Formats: sequence, C-alpha cells, structure tokens
Amino acid sequence: MPNRKRILITGAAGFLGSHLSDRFIKEDYHVIGMDNLITGDLRNIEHLFKLENFEFYNHDVSTFVHVPGDLDYILHFASPASPIDYLKIPIQTLKVGSLGTHNLLGLALAKGARMLIASTSEVYGDPNINPQPEEYWGNVNPVGPRGVYDEAKRFQEAITMAYHTFHGLETRIVRIFNTYGPRMRLNDGRVLPAFIGQALRGESLTMFGDGSQTRSFCYVDDLVEGIYRLLHSDYAQPMNIGNPDEITIKQFGEEIIKLTGTDQELISLPLPTDDPKQRRPDITKAKAILGWEPQISRSEGLKITLDYFKSLPEKEIHHKDFSYYNKNR
Ligand code: UDP
Repeated sequence: MPNRKRILITGAAGFLGSHLSDRFIKEDYHVIGMDNLITGDLRNIEHLFKLENFEFYNHDVSTFVHVPGDLDYILHFASPASPIDYLKIPIQTLKVGSLGTHNLLGLALAKGARMLIASTSEVYGDPNINPQPEEYWGNVNPVGPRGVYDEAKRFQEAITMAYHTFHGLETRIVRIFNTYGPRMRLNDGRVLPAFIGQALRGESLTMFGDGSQTRSFCYVDDLVEGIYRLLHSDYAQPMNIGNPDEITIKQFGEEIIKLTGTDQELISLPLPTDDPKQRRPDITKAKAILGWEPQISRSEGLKITLDYFKSLPEKEIHHKDFSYYNKNR
C-alpha cells in the first residue's frame, strides 16, 4: 500500500471542500472528507467514492471529532458561507466556526497534524480602507445579521493563533475573498449564482441597492492553488487569497446579462443590512511569500461557471426550494 500523506478536509461536500478534495487526490494524498451535508451536496464528491485513497464521514464537527489512524494535515472548510445561510442557520454557523474549530485543533494536536483554517474577508467587515491588507483589523458589527459568521471566523482565527503560540501547533490561516466556479449552489443567495440562475430562468436580475458596492471575484482553481501553497509554506500569520480585480455589482450584473444573452434587466432591491460597500484583497503577501497570483480572468472563469450551471438538470435550475436548511438541525 502506498505511503500516502493523510489529510482531513471538513466541508468536503461543499463548493471549496470538494475542489480541495479533488486537488489533494490529484497530488496522491489519502483524503478523508467530512461533512454533515446541511449545505454540502454529496454529488460534488460522488466521483471520489470509488477511489481507494478517499473516504467520507457524515459528521458534524461541532461535536467531538474522531478519525482513526494518522493525520498529517487538517483543512477546516466546514461552514455555511452565504449571507442567506447565516440568516437561516445562525447557530450552526457560530458553532462550526467556534466549537468545530476547537474540536479540530484538539484533533490536530493529538495527531501532530498541521491545520489550515478557512477564514474570510468578512473578518474585515464593512472595511474603511481599500484594498484590505492583512494588518487591517476590520469594521464588524457583532450583533448584525452577518455577525454570526464574521465573529465565528474572528474567534476561529484567535483560537487558532492561541494553539499556535501556546501549544506550538503548526497552523495556517487563509482569508478567502469572494470565490466562484462550478459546484456553487444555485440557490445559496450569493450574487453570482443568483444572477446566473435568474438569467437562465428569464427573470430580472436582482441587484441590491444601487449596485455601486464592489466585490473582487476569484476563480476557484486559483484559490485552491493559493491554499495549496499556503499549506506547504511556513507562514503562520493570516494570508489573503483572492483576485484583486474589483468590480461594482452593477457592472457585474451587466457582464452576466451580456454573457448569458438574456433579454432581462437589472432591478434594484433594498440593500441588506451591513452589506460591505467595498472589498478587494491586497495580495502583496501572497505574491511575495507564495509566489502566487490569480491566473484566470473573470471572463474565462465566468464562461466555465455558466457552462456548469447550464449543465444542471432543467428542474434544478427552476427549483427554488430551501428545504435543505431543515435537514440535520
Ligand atoms: N447581491 C445582489 N443581488 C443578489 C445577491 C447579492 O446585488 O441577488 C449583492 C450583495 O448585496 C453584495 C454582493 O452582491 O453587495 C455580493 O453578495 P454575496 O451574497 O455574493 O456575497 P458577500 O460578498 O456579500 O458575502
């Protein structure tokens, strides 16, 4: 039997977790996927089940986590990650970022594994500076609707650094900016699947506010490459990984209209509470320390992503049921 490195990936059935699982399988690791399937979908990883170097546990990491055998690495990517999800499942969001992280840090310590946590640009809140460097402490409303995610992720960073400094655990912290690509959920409420789904259904595109708020969208393969490099680096401080190509939501909607060829237009709906006005990563550190920067332009990445959404069964494109939120509560 080959002597493969063993890696636990939590949130393995989710958007990012499934792409990371693919990458580590490709690098010939033994991948142990874990997910409680509240927002994850087994279809994202069903092609891996036949492989001898993949196994899967349906488990909620907010409760005690046991994994038999050795572990070299842990990637903690289990978490709801869209504003609609935090509104629907706020307590689970808080628990997976706090209790889940604590459980996994304990597991990492017991196994002598290196642990990388998925943090987020949301730790910067509604930022007062643009672009956001890692040194910026953020502008977060702890009791607003996004507070359950933002504060869980801030706590996650704090406890991870504490395990690093107090226990000497090898830890890595990636701050992920808006990322897109195949396997995003069509109904997760995020702007890209929302706009593409609406265009495919022949509905108006719902722009929140006047669309002057900005985001910077990174294609998933670029993100995975950055995370892969960070994991294997010796850098324990938080690192931004994202694409600095900033765009307003209005321009983004216009791009989607053009790309899909829909005859629909943007309509304006109220801006959600605490919606960040601007977001763009400063990736100076990733460039200098990892030699990383995004390679895939938005026009290339959007084409691939649109093809993915078009390949879904027709009834799924027209399905707007959110019943999955009621599973496994
Ligand atoms: N947004 C929008 N229409 C939608 C969904 C989102 O205009 O149907 C806006 C949202 O207000 C925000 C931006 O798009 O300014 C990105 O939202 P998303 O939920 O994708 O992620 P966020 O970056 O806010 O976490």
